[in-house]
Amino acid sequence: MAEEAIYTDEELSINEQWDEICNQLKMEFGATAFDSWLKPLSVSSFDNGVMNICAPTTFMKNWVIAHYSERIHRIWERKNPDIKQVKFVVQNISAGTSLNNAHIDSSLIKRVPSSPTPQSLYNISNIANNRSDSESYFGSKLNNTFTFDNFVVGKTNEFAYAAARKVAESRNIPFNPLFLYSGVGLGKTHLMHAIAQYIKQNDPSRTVVYISAEQFLLKFVNALRYKDTDAFKEQFRSVDVLMIDDVQFLANKTKTQDEFFYTFTSLIESGKQIILSADKSPNDLDGIESRLKSRLNSGLVADIMPTDFDLRLGILHKKAEQLGIELPENVATFLAQKITASTRELEGSLKRIAAHCMLLSGHEITLDMTQDVLKDMLHSIDRKTTIDEIQKKVAEYFNISVKEMQSSRRARNVARPRQIAMYLAKQLTSRSLPEIGRKFDRDHTTVMHAVRKVEELIVEDTSMAESVDALRHLLES
Ligand code: ADP
Ligand code: MG
Repeated sequence: MAEEAIYTDEELSINEQWDEICNQLKMEFGATAFDSWLKPLSVSSFDNGVMNICAPTTFMKNWVIAHYSERIHRIWERKNPDIKQVKFVVQNISAGTSLNNAHIDSSLIKRVPSSPTPQSLYNISNIANNRSDSESYFGSKLNNTFTFDNFVVGKTNEFAYAAARKVAESRNIPFNPLFLYSGVGLGKTHLMHAIAQYIKQNDPSRTVVYISAEQFLLKFVNALRYKDTDAFKEQFRSVDVLMIDDVQFLANKTKTQDEFFYTFTSLIESGKQIILSADKSPNDLDGIESRLKSRLNSGLVADIMPTDFDLRLGILHKKAEQLGIELPENVATFLAQKITASTRELEGSLKRIAAHCMLLSGHEITLDMTQDVLKDMLHSIDRKTTIDEIQKKVAEYFNISVKEMQSSRRARNVARPRQIAMYLAKQLTSRSLPEIGRKFDRDHTTVMHAVRKVEELIVEDTSMAESVDALRHLLES
């Protein structure tokens, strides 16, 4: 994707940015959840890198923190790199709208009670606010639940785990770089945060920086813009351990790759540890220059394979313990058998069950209740509609090839079917916008735009509505 895309949002005011974020959240979480929890929020103030968002009640605030804060923060961080922290506050309505009158609830501190409450849900999903050991920390935030202790080891991830532990525990450099790769939701970020937290605790004199490739890119683009690349370089070159997550994001961003290459080389030469992650092995990464690929290959490459049943069961029990819920064995077995795609989904299902129990307090977790609460999720798993299948059927229907659908061609006869396929992928699978985007070689904003466009077209154009409906039928049957 073009790097210019990154600039566009910066021209918008904070309120306009918030409106766009709301549109995206609505798309991602659906209109019902959006209307209940997110629509009542409003931007209160933006001060010193801290964005304050108001909720009308404490309950609502806690719920939003538990379920949406991580996502809101991520989207906002991407839109506007000036935003370092997003805080949720309760607005005292009678007191007007100034932030001074808003009550910042500081009660959400680490404590895992024995039954799920908004707080325990918060603990598990919150990105911890522990960036500020030193004001100069410029990396992305760490999630304090992503520790080695909370990582369940099984056959499919033991090698990556052992490599991560080795790097964390060694004062010298065992291998450089350590390159972790896997499909989504299999624990790469968890392991990287665990390394960072381990070193911070056990060897605080070493500077550790964890940063997503997206943030790295944004920082670089900003440095170029403000002609401040020297400071940018200095920052990165002064760390002892540098971790960059999801480096596939640097694909085709040649300038950033060049800078990354130099930073990388200089850190390795001065004996600093580098840890990287990606969704593919270095050799399989598209859009990465070959000299960089060979650098990425020069240390230890460790992959994490898709989870097996035993590991899923182990993870479910671990997460249930963190959430403070009793998970009966038959429910755990059921979930571990059914939800195989990613650990993130597995965890999501558990959180939904926990939230349900919390709202209808006193309710025990049973298999029936689980099947009921997760019926839409299970339904889509049972249907097993895949994006590949959607692309194939939609392409066939419109008489184009799947290759054309994935190509960069913008001609209407190709672009429209592509948008419809994206729309159906969002509707019929549980894949996220970025995951769908990847299947079309596009980024998540393109998918979002396509979904919106098709939604409009369905209203305006009955023949379009019929086509989409026919395709949906075809795919669901
Ligand atoms: P990735 O970065 O590979 O996409 P993450 O590290 O974000 O995946 O993991 C997704 C979720 O699954 C996180 O909540 C993480 O804690 C959890 N998870 C993944 N693997 C494990 C594991 N082996 N043990 C415990 N939790 C795990
Ligand atoms: Mg990750």
